Amino acid sequence: MQFIETRGNDGQKPKKVNFSEAILNPSASFGGIYVPESLPSFDIEFLKKHIDSNYKELAYDILKEFEIDIDDETIQKALDRYDSFDDSKNPVPLSKIEDDCFVMELYHGPTRAFKDMALQPFGYILSREAQKVNQNYLIMAATSGDTGPATLETFKNQANIKVACLYPSGGTSDVQRLQMVTEEADNEKVIGVVGNFDDTQNMLKELLSSEDFKEELKKRDIKLSAANSVNFGRIIFQIIYHIHGYLELVRQNEITMGEKVYLVVPSGNFGNVLGGYYAKKGGLPVEKLMVASNINNILTDLIENGIYDMASRELIKTASPAMDILKSSNVERVLFDKFGATRTKELMDDLNSKGKYTLTKDELASIQEDFVATYSDDSECIDEISNYYKKEGYIFDPHTATCMKSYRQREKKELKSIVYSTAEWTKFSTTVAKALGNSEVKNDTEALKWIAETTNQTVPPMIAELFNKPIVHPLVVEKEFIKNEMLKFL
Ligand SMILES: *Cc1c(COP(=O)(O)O)cnc(C)c1O
Repeated sequence: MQFIETRGNDGQKPKKVNFSEAILNPSASFGGIYVPESLPSFDIEFLKKHIDSNYKELAYDILKEFEIDIDDETIQKALDRYDSFDDSKNPVPLSKIEDDCFVMELYHGPTRAFKDMALQPFGYILSREAQKVNQNYLIMAATSGDTGPATLETFKNQANIKVACLYPSGGTSDVQRLQMVTEEADNEKVIGVVGNFDDTQNMLKELLSSEDFKEELKKRDIKLSAANSVNFGRIIFQIIYHIHGYLELVRQNEITMGEKVYLVVPSGNFGNVLGGYYAKKGGLPVEKLMVASNINNILTDLIENGIYDMASRELIKTASPAMDILKSSNVERVLFDKFGATRTKELMDDLNSKGKYTLTKDELASIQEDFVATYSDDSECIDEISNYYKKEGYIFDPHTATCMKSYRQREKKELKSIVYSTAEWTKFSTTVAKALGNSEVKNDTEALKWIAETTNQTVPPMIAELFNKPIVHPLVVEKEFIKNEMLKFL
């Protein structure tokens, strides 16, 4: 299958590219991104055929349906990365928390957030493809906390890839910071930046667009790639678990084949819910994709009112930092799918020049056929964590907690819901301890210990070990020194 560009073609780049090209060089004409030219079908026939497939078998067949130009051995080896999850036979367990509500736990990988679901296999494929074309690539990530650890973990000691990861010093949880600064690999560099996530991201953008820096990369024969969800290589792996979750409900006799379900997705950059949208579009019986946000509710506004307005907003720091996002990159792929390249370019040009775009009435109606949206503020999330622990003994992280208000607001109460849990509570233990009644804990060490003792939960070894590992990336710098540090690393 070929990949095309969301904002049309500028005459400089090829009109269509293979999957391997789209993932190695993910930036398309006019600042757009790549999308598949058509979508495979995930209809009842496909579902019936896969009723007995395990996760890896299903994943393999879905990748095959996309006819990607990656050889079978590479695909198999990439999927073998799921063997390192807690339960290799069942990497994404589904927990029942209400008669009609199931939590799909996407956090059983090495860094305890859903980013591993895609980044683990994707990292293997990207490195293999870079080796095949005999080219070195640099991946630069600015992270608010989950992307950084997952990117470092998947690419560590992988040939032809270098990773530089910038994080806002003081802007992540202790666990997230330790996951990054203790990661030891010759091909990776981690730099703390004095400032918040916005400063860090702006710094990265500045660096990536500086002619000077580009020249330095050229001298060293290094190309730039990306591992965030603008890369379709991430999205393709985020379609699989939506289909797997549905099949799991059929297998557990919770639904009959063909019965519709709600998918409730805590959203930031819109990559997770986009995977659900592609699955729905391919025929998965989904009533609505429910987009859950925190107080940075720009997606709620878009889906309810058809207005995407960054200009009148300031980013607010919340207890669910991975969703503290105003520029949600993957919305563009939905706009393209529904309204085409010309209109998408127009809307994105508006966003760049005015910080805002507005959909027509018909366009909004089309969005609302697939999506509904709700947001929760921090105190509502804390209440949800507290309530579900008391009621079910189940512990949500603050991101997953935003889903429960959406779930209660579903229109057709007779349908079942799948809620996506995007992080383990251990990554946000200070907030969770507060929700469970202890506001005294001063840091993650104390919070993890208190929660484990009070609730009888175990802290997984990869989190517990972090506190004893040596810190190999102590560097925290003012932003003007980043370039120098980068050049030293390269
Ligand atoms: C990345 C992340 C999200 C947001 O996912 P998107 O695909 O960017 O919408 C939500 N929760 C957690 C814990 C995350 O790490």
